[in-house]
Amino acid sequence: MNTAALYNLYNQHYLVDTDTRTIRKNTIFFALKGDNFNGNTFAEQALKLGASYAVVDEKEFKTNDRILLVADVLESLQKLANFHRKQLNIPIIGLTGSNGKTTTKELINVVLSKKYTTVATKGNLNNHIGVPLTLLSMNPKTELGIVEMGANHQKEIEFLCTICEPDFGYITNFGKAHLEGFGGVEGVIKGKSELYTFLLANHKTVFINIDDPIQVERAKEINSVCFNPNDVQFIEVNPFVKLSYKNESIQSNLIGNYNFTNIAAAITIGAHFKVSETAIKQAIESYVPTNNRSQIIKTLHNTIILDAYNANPSSMKVALENFDTIKAASKVVILGDMFEVGKESAPEHQAITELATSFNFDQTYFVGENFNIAKTDKPQFKTYQELEDFLKKNPLKNHSILIKGSRGMRLERILEFIS
Ligand code: ATP
Ligand code: MG
Repeated sequence: MNTAALYNLYNQHYLVDTDTRTIRKNTIFFALKGDNFNGNTFAEQALKLGASYAVVDEKEFKTNDRILLVADVLESLQKLANFHRKQLNIPIIGLTGSNGKTTTKELINVVLSKKYTTVATKGNLNNHIGVPLTLLSMNPKTELGIVEMGANHQKEIEFLCTICEPDFGYITNFGKAHLEGFGGVEGVIKGKSELYTFLLANHKTVFINIDDPIQVERAKEINSVCFNPNDVQFIEVNPFVKLSYKNESIQSNLIGNYNFTNIAAAITIGAHFKVSETAIKQAIESYVPTNNRSQIIKTLHNTIILDAYNANPSSMKVALENFDTIKAASKVVILGDMFEVGKESAPEHQAITELATSFNFDQTYFVGENFNIAKTDKPQFKTYQELEDFLKKNPLKNHSILIKGSRGMRLERILEFIS
């Protein structure tokens, strides 16, 4: 079955799913393959669960009329998404960057949804499957799309741009994330800049943080809209970012200096799409982060800044610098390993160890195999379990505690026993 024929069907149903556990009625099920599963084997089950059609790419699973055979299910999904995107005559904003994509995407979405019917990437569905699913969740009522595009190697953003065809783009930052796959920081800049190459080639527009010299340099030939430093000004971190926009003060619920840039991006984009100043202020003030991203949690005895969603050298650095500026009687830092740092892992963990130590926080702990080999006189734990055992014997009380580590470290587990 070709893309146009598939699109005809899709047009009658407008629901696409790749997981039988979430299947609803009037759905086309795409039988994707993963490392450990073959979606083809779920095709019949998907129909039983209510799907109208299932798309497979192995002949033996085409057992009835409602099972549609294509050459490659993933490619079909991506082509269908692009076909749909072309039919949707709406502006789409593509976002990438090393850190802050999801936060910025959510901020842009709350701002733009004050005036438009928007669809934005759900959660972190930002890869070669998530981007098509995001596009396919847009419908004729959608007026604006906001699509997060993640990458951990070269050419990934280029490819996602061919599916999503953004009219506008924003790169949150060029940082030390996924260094392994990109081949160092230069590789990150090159890889993320694939968004700029697409926008330039297609005469589209980029939003630029003028405080970032790399963005200014890389995007100089592209039609651009810059943050206006006269309109958007940083006031303080208290510990939440406070800023002013056209003389109105905005009190966000986001901690960390770095979130100023994320908010400034959402304001700039909102202003470009003519969202009123009052609506922008309301939107930013209403946004409360979830999912372990810079959340502030007050327990009975402690205040915790939980940033256990992910970690890399850039986000570790800004999180530590930010924690240093927060006023608190006693500060404790618990840092877990940073993954995907590649051959620079040992020096990057050493550098973060030294940076964390240099702030002289009241207590500093390191956990994970990578931090364990760094040289420091602070306590190190090779495994999460060792840290947990230690903290259970030595409970933390009356502190402000920063917890940050890569997703795989699952440091949010600490919350279960800190009271
Ligand atoms: P992922 O690669 O997992 O999709 P992401 O780019 O979507 O990550 P977020 O989930 O928004 O990023 O934020 C993750 C963490 O990155 C935050 O908790 C914070 O520590 C850090 N961070 C957020 N914004 C910035 C920024 N502008 N610059 C540097 N670090 C940031
Ligand atoms: Mg994300």
